[in-house]
Order: sequence, then C-alpha cells, then structure tokens
Amino acid sequence: MDLAVALYVVPTPIGNLADITQRALDVLQQVSLIACEDTRHSGKLLSHFGIETKKIALHDHNERDRAKDIIKLLADAQSVALISDAGTPLISDPGYHLVSQVRQAGYKVIPLPGACAAITALSASGLPSDRFSFEGFLPAKEKGRLDKLAALREDPRTLIFYESPHRIVHSLKSIVTALGDDRQIVMAREVTKTFETFLSGDAQSVLAQVEADPNQQKGEIVLMCHGHRSEETADIPAVAIETLSLLSTELPLKKAAALAAQIHGLKKNALYKHGLSIGL
Ligand code: SAM
Repeated sequence: MDLAVALYVVPTPIGNLADITQRALDVLQQVSLIACEDTRHSGKLLSHFGIETKKIALHDHNERDRAKDIIKLLADAQSVALISDAGTPLISDPGYHLVSQVRQAGYKVIPLPGACAAITALSASGLPSDRFSFEGFLPAKEKGRLDKLAALREDPRTLIFYESPHRIVHSLKSIVTALGDDRQIVMAREVTKTFETFLSGDAQSVLAQVEADPNQQKGEIVLMCHGHRSEETADIPAVAIETLSLLSTELPLKKAAALAAQIHGLKKNALYKHGLSIGL
C-alpha cells in the first residue's frame, strides 16, 4: 500500500483485538510516527501485531505542542498516525486540536473507519437509530448531571452517554429523576468482550437490576436513552412496545398495531405511530 503524506486518524479495538482492520495495521506499520494517548497502553496492542513504528505520547495536556511537532514532520513529507487507548480518536478522546491544527496548516487528514463504542452499542440496542445525540460523559457532580439531563429531557433523539462503572448507579438515579422512571433505556456493558451484556427496560427497572448485581457495576459502559416521546405515544408501556415489535416481525405494522392495541387495551393509532417512529 502506497501511503499519501497525511495525518491518519486510526481507530483501534474497544476490547476484541480481532476488530482491528487490515488497513489500520498497514497504516500503523508504514507511518513514520504513531501519536498515542498513552504509549505504554498502545505499546501492548502494537507489539501484539508486530508493529515497531516509533511512538510519542499525545494527550490532553500536551496536544497543542505536539501538533506543532507533527506539522513539522508532515512538512518534511513524513506521515503520522493518531490512535487513542481504544476506539476512535477524538470521540471522548484527545485529537481535536491536532486535527484542526493540521487542517489549518493545509495538510491532509485521512480518517480510517473502525471501532467506536457508541455506534457499536447503538447498533444492537433496539432503540431508534435514525436520529441520535452523542453526549459523551455526564458530569461527575449531581447538580451538573441533573442540569445536563434536564436540558435533554425534551430531545426526541436517542441519547448516548459514556459512563464509568463507579458512577453508573448515580447516573441511573439522575436519569430516573430528570427523565422519568419510565424512560426506556439500554445499558451496554463490555461490548465486544467476554462479559458483554445489554440490559434494557424502563430507567427504574434497569437501576434496580444494576443496584442488585455488583457485576453490572464493573467494566466499560455505554448508556442509551430513548428520546422524548410526544404526548400521544408517551403513555405506551414498554411491554406493549415489545408485543408490537414481536408481532411486526410476522405481520404488517398496521395489523401488528391493531393486535397489540387489543392485547394491551391501547389505541391502535398511537401504537402504529410509535411503530413508525422506531422504524418497525
Ligand atoms: N474513543 C472511544 C470510542 O470510540 O468509543 C471512547 C473513549 S472514552 C475515554 C471510554 C469510554 O467509552 C468508556 O468509559 C465507556 O463508556 C466507553 N467504552 C469503551 N469501550 C467500551 C466497551 N467495550 N463497552 C462499552 N463501553 C465502552
């Protein structure tokens, strides 16, 4: 592979090493330098794949200075790759200042597609994926968390948060308070790893499951919340949505909505509209 002179933004696996792409390996092998969020952490990954390219550390505290050094290398026709500890650089990871400075200096930035916890989790969540908002980490302090969630309460898009295992219970409690105990949520934990788990249900029931099981308070977590639903569809209980989803795998949506409405004593129009909104 002939490498164009550029800064390459290279995703790395979020748990399962087999998720690295062939193109990522080729680029990491051929660039002059790899800028890593943490050289020791990435050193393990790179040596697993037999990559011996020179590394430098690029993190939140030295990113602006490092950008100047990297621009000098690009001016000298040398290519550089940017990786973070896991997943796609810049997504709740360093790299934004580097990429914007390299672009401003007139050099090419070439992105490679690859692992990203938010997108991987969303793709299997069962929540609407036609519109979503990635919100990164919720604030650590309760007041900040509640303020942020209150500002998102009416947002109709699926909300995606990254969460640490130490704060998961606090964040779920804040979601119950700010978005309501009946907000549909999906908690994706240890995605692509041995203990991958998806918990779903209303916020109160997911909180109860997580509180009751210390294993659910371990590992890496993506928390996703159904977007705000209009008055008409807000009252549809989770169990009716499950019935509707199941029936719609065998029947046209109109028929599925009519049957689900009969089973749960609800309005078929509301179920039909909801089915359309979640892409059934
Ligand atoms: N840049 C990364 C990406 O593309 O996903 C995210 C980096 S951010 C510092 C780390 C957070 O991503 C974790 O705290 C967790 O919320 C989420 N995450 C990373 N790997 C994950 C996994 N295997 N399963 C679930 N969440 C994960």
